[in-house]
Amino acid sequence: MTTTELIPSPSRYFIWTIGCQMNVADSERLESALLQLGLQSTERPQNADVIVLNSCVVRQSAEDKVVGMLTSLKPLKGSRPDRVVALMGCMVGPKSDALRQRFPYVDVFMRPQQYKPLLELLGDRMGIDAEGCLSTLVPPRASVTAFIPIIHGCDKFCTFCIIPYRRGREKSRPIPDIVREAELLAVRGVKEVTLLGQNVDSYGNDLPGNGDLADLLTAVSEVDGLRRVRFLTSHPNDMDQRIIDAVASLDRVCEHVNLPFQAGDDGVLTAMRRGYTTDEYRRLVDRIRATVPRVSMATDLIVGFPGESEAAFQRSVDMLEEVRFDKVHAAAYSDRPGTIAARRMEDSVPAEEKRRRMKVIESVQERIATGINAGLLNTTQEVLVERREKGKWRGRNRNDKLVFFEDARDLQGETVNVRIERTSPWSLQGDVVD
Ligand code: SF4
Repeated sequence: MTTTELIPSPSRYFIWTIGCQMNVADSERLESALLQLGLQSTERPQNADVIVLNSCVVRQSAEDKVVGMLTSLKPLKGSRPDRVVALMGCMVGPKSDALRQRFPYVDVFMRPQQYKPLLELLGDRMGIDAEGCLSTLVPPRASVTAFIPIIHGCDKFCTFCIIPYRRGREKSRPIPDIVREAELLAVRGVKEVTLLGQNVDSYGNDLPGNGDLADLLTAVSEVDGLRRVRFLTSHPNDMDQRIIDAVASLDRVCEHVNLPFQAGDDGVLTAMRRGYTTDEYRRLVDRIRATVPRVSMATDLIVGFPGESEAAFQRSVDMLEEVRFDKVHAAAYSDRPGTIAARRMEDSVPAEEKRRRMKVIESVQERIATGINAGLLNTTQEVLVERREKGKWRGRNRNDKLVFFEDARDLQGETVNVRIERTSPWSLQGDVVD
């Protein structure tokens, strides 16, 4: 008997995703492959023949959730051994021996974007050449916005970060590939694309003659049907004037920059191996604001990095007060095994103190965002309408601010002008004006 006669062909899949937008994009592409193979999605892992966990280990809390999910799958696999369980994403390193020992009931281990092992296993069970059956992998469900990964991996090796060890060195996709994907998405009704990378500003460095992020922004913003283009995440050392000028000059590129500063103290930045000083960061922000009027700024920040003193932490707070970011993604430092910081530095700031510092950051940022958003009261904002949420339309303005409004018409995918009547630190509310 052959394998295909012994085991029923899989027909339903369940994908669980945690982590950054790159993981969301990877899951969407895997889902597209599974749909092309004829499988259907199910909401419950109990009903699935194929269960995929797309994992994140950037923080301890994310890794704990993955381990919890994996543990909960053990009885499901026990009750139906033919069920396929796959672990994908940043939890899977180049060597998966330790994971295999810890989770022997997992059938397939796949690194980020490495769909092949699962597709081959499913192809065997279905008696087909799975990879040969697949066309371009784009998000399966038409929505107003979509992510397009443009560069995988990272060459920076910040001392706290596990990404380069899990996603590998930088690898850019050629401009024609990305433009083709953007065209396919636009035909399916997508109005806004976000170009994704761990360090999107170094796009193209590994592809001589391809062009850089500024060239790519120009090419994608010319795609018929697209109204907006965004990009994420930037690195202060690679954000050059060409990129800033592209944001300023291309109508469809939104005025929003996510520029992590990570720490407001030069000693901590050196220990993190970020490669810039706080003054260089400030000058870059000034240059962005001088070149791109009305730009909004977001940032990432770590509190409680090894050796971060109270004075050093205060300098991060000072940076928030000075720059006045629209949005701050703050995280408490946690040791990531394998990183330079975990190997060579003592995780010296107690957990309780990290929690206190997080609270300080949250409350300072809430006050700042309250003030910035209050300044938008009675202004008119151009909003791309994404979907309905709790009886209201939800969209974002060009500066990436969430906007809610009520309207009886079907406005999904439309760009409307909304007069802002109420503001909070997290969103804006208003009414459509002609
Ligand atoms: S730039 Fe630093 S923090 Fe960002 S992915 Fe690369 S190594 Fe990690």
